[in-house]
Amino acid sequence: MLLDFDLLKSLTACDNLELDAETLERLDTYAALLVETNQKFNLTAITEPKEMTIKHFADCLLLFRYVDFPKNAKIIDVGTGAGFPGLVLKLTRPDLDITFLDSTKKKLGFIDTVLQEVGLSGEILHSRAEEAGQNAKYREQFDFATARAVSNLPMLSEYALPFVKKGGSFISMKSATVGEELASAEGAIRTLGGKIEENILFDLVEDMPRRILRIKKVSQTPSKYPRPSAKIAKNPLK
Ligand code: SAM
Repeated sequence: MLLDFDLLKSLTACDNLELDAETLERLDTYAALLVETNQKFNLTAITEPKEMTIKHFADCLLLFRYVDFPKNAKIIDVGTGAGFPGLVLKLTRPDLDITFLDSTKKKLGFIDTVLQEVGLSGEILHSRAEEAGQNAKYREQFDFATARAVSNLPMLSEYALPFVKKGGSFISMKSATVGEELASAEGAIRTLGGKIEENILFDLVEDMPRRILRIKKVSQTPSKYPRPSAKIAKNPLK
């Protein structure tokens, strides 16, 4: 056992989350594969068991406290990297229909390995977000988009909001110090058809504040968004 199960349970306890023995075993398999694979190529800087329990696993599991994902909800995890939060959500709630999107193939290969190891499945999407967001197969097809540590909020909103159907939500996991970024992103979010619905500040553990933003998709994203990467970088939405 690599993860600290008692700590994980105490930090994340809530009505929407059941960490039974089977779920904990799946999460631990993921953690073990993360540490093992990390020796071959870099997936994360955090591999010490207690730190990993808190900063990766509890951090992502806490989404369940603040977001009530309906059964079989369709979710795209944008810039999933080694699977945070998408893979934690899937291993905890196998009913969720998750698409794992990243531009780095190696990281997606790791996610595929973990899914196979625990006998679950999900769509692995190797693409840049701004390209997949213009593809009718993915555009406005998801109940939720999630993202943790991918980019600043105006750019990230242009990556993520096009995937969300009207009435759905983009859940952005941010550091607590996102104040200024948030103010500058409001116009961008509006342009993309979104509206900040909830801005939740909480302590992961003492002195480790985190923020979850829930951005509701209130109208369709205009077809010109997302723009090509170079345009997004050169002229971020305001
Ligand atoms: N979400 C994970 C986490 O919290 O550990 C990974 C965070 S990592 C800092 C950012 C990830 O976003 C990288 O894996 C990178 O390849 C991916 N990424 C950045 N920009 C992207 C884009 N435009 N389209 C797809 N993936 C992107």
